[in-house]
Amino acid sequence: MQNHPMYIDGRSVDAASGEWFDSFNPFTGEPWARIAKGGAADADAAVKAAHRALTSGPWPQMTASQRGMLLHRLGELIARDARRLAEVEVQDNGKLIAEMHGQLNYVPQWYYYFGGLADKIQGAVIPLDKKGYFNYTRHEPVGVCVAITAWNSPLLLTAYKLAPALAAGCTVVVKPSEFTSVSTLEFVKLVEEAGFPPGVVNVVTGFGKDVGPTLVEHPLVAKIAFTGSSATGRTINEQAAKHFKRCTLELGGKSPNIVFDDAKLEDAVNGAVSGIFAATGQTCIAGSRLLLQESIHDAFLDKLLALAKTARMGNPMSPDTQIGPITTRPQYEKVLGYIDIAKQEGAQVRLGGGPATRPECGRGWFVEPTVFSGVKNSMRIAQEEVFGPVLSVIPFKDEEEAVAIANDIRFGLGAGVWTSDIGRAFRMSERIQSGTVWVNTYRVVSYMSPFGGYKDSGLGRENGMDAIREYLQTKSVWINTGAATGNPFVLR
Ligand code: NAD
Repeated sequence: MQNHPMYIDGRSVDAASGEWFDSFNPFTGEPWARIAKGGAADADAAVKAAHRALTSGPWPQMTASQRGMLLHRLGELIARDARRLAEVEVQDNGKLIAEMHGQLNYVPQWYYYFGGLADKIQGAVIPLDKKGYFNYTRHEPVGVCVAITAWNSPLLLTAYKLAPALAAGCTVVVKPSEFTSVSTLEFVKLVEEAGFPPGVVNVVTGFGKDVGPTLVEHPLVAKIAFTGSSATGRTINEQAAKHFKRCTLELGGKSPNIVFDDAKLEDAVNGAVSGIFAATGQTCIAGSRLLLQESIHDAFLDKLLALAKTARMGNPMSPDTQIGPITTRPQYEKVLGYIDIAKQEGAQVRLGGGPATRPECGRGWFVEPTVFSGVKNSMRIAQEEVFGPVLSVIPFKDEEEAVAIANDIRFGLGAGVWTSDIGRAFRMSERIQSGTVWVNTYRVVSYMSPFGGYKDSGLGRENGMDAIREYLQTKSVWINTGAATGNPFVLR
C-alpha cells in the first residue's frame, strides 16, 4: 500500500502527528492506500501558507490574465491524465469507470471556463448624484478559502470550488473526504506542474472532526465552500457565522421526479431509472422520490421495474458494469437501515430490498437496486436522504397535488418534470421550490449553469457567472475631483 502525504506550501508533508489512516476499495472491502492523518496543527500550517501566498510572493503580483493562463494549463494537464485519475477514483469510491472517464474528461472545462473569466471581472463607474466626486467599484478576492468536499465525486466537487476561487485571485486549502482523499492528492501534483506558486493551493487530509473546526474557525480564513450533508453544513455555517465568514453550502437532497400522463413514457422511464440508479444513487441530485400520476401509475411502474431488473452489478472497473458498490461501509449500513425503516413504515418492496449477494459482487458493499411503491410523502423514506439506490414511488392526482407533494420537504436541490404540455412545463418550473428544475430530462449539469439548493439543500451557487461572485467582494472607491472639503464644525 502506498503512503499519500498532504500538500502544504508547495511541499508533500506527513501529518505533524506522524499518523496515517487507511482508505478502502469498496469493491474489495480491503484497504488500498494510506493517507496522512492531519490534525489541527496541519490545518493551521495550511491556512498560514495560503495566507502568505495571498499577501506576498508571486500570486498577488500576477495579472488576472496570467492567473487565467495557469488555470487553462491546469485544465490541459487534467485532460492529459484523465484516464489515470478516473482509475484512482474508481479504486477509492467505487463509481463506475465509464462514469468516471466521462466525469474526468469534463472536469477540465471548469478550469478553461473560469480561466477565461479571470480577466473579465470588471467593476463599474457609478453615475453619481453628487458633483465633484468620481466613484467606482473594484471586485477583489475575498481571501483565503477553505474547500471541503464529499466522497461521491471528489475532483468534480473540487473543480466547482477551486476554479472560480483561483480565477478570483483567492488562495485555497482543500480538505477532501477522509473516505476518498487519494484523487485530490494526485490532482494537486498537477497544480504544481501547472506552475501555481507554493501555498496557492494546499491539501489537508484527515477526519472532518480533527481538521474541520480549525479550518472553519481560523481567523485567516475568509470563506468556506462546502459540499456534504446538511447536518455537517449546519455545523459549519454556525461556526462560520460566529466569525462573519462567508459560506457556500451544497448539501443534501430528496428530489422529486414527476411524471404526468401526457409525458413520453419511454423517455420518462429511462429518466427515472437513471435519476435514481446512476452513480448507485449516491448523488445529491438523485431523483429519489418518483411522483407518478395515478392514471399511469401501474403501467409506468411495470416498465420501470422491467428496466431496473436488467442492471448489471459488479466490478466498477469493468466497462460493462451498470451499478457499483456503495462507497463507504457506514453508508452501506445506512442504506440498508433505511430499507428496513421503509418496510416497517408499510412501503411495499417491488424490487431488491436488501444487500446484493450476486457472485459478481464479491465481498464489496453492494445493495440491490430497490424500489418501494405505496410510499406516502410523510414517511421517513420519502422525507430523509438515503444517498443510495433506493426509489420511493408516490402517486398523485393532478398538477396541484404534484406541486404540493414536491414542495412538502425540507430539501430543494433538484426536480424533474416529464410532460408534453408546454404550459405545464413552465408552470411547474415556476412553482417547484428547488435550485434546478429539469423538464423532460434529468441530471444534466454544466460548468456554465448555476447550481445550488433552496431550503436545507444549501446556500449560494456554484458554476456559471454566479459562482465567481461568491469569491469576490466589492469595494467602492470615492475620488474627490473638486468638491470642497469644508470645516465639519461649520454648518452650511
Ligand atoms: P459529510 O457531511 O459527512 O462530509 C463532507 C465533508 O465534510 C468531508 O470532507 C468531511 O470530512 C467534512 N467534515 C465532517 N465534519 C466536519 C466538521 N465538523 N467541520 C468541517 N468539515 C467536516 O458528507 P458525505 O457523507 O461526505 O457526503 C454525502 C452528502 O453530501 C450527502 O448529503 C449529499 O447529498 C451531499 N452532497 C451534496 C452535493 C451538492 O452539490 N449539493 C454534492 C455531493 C454530495
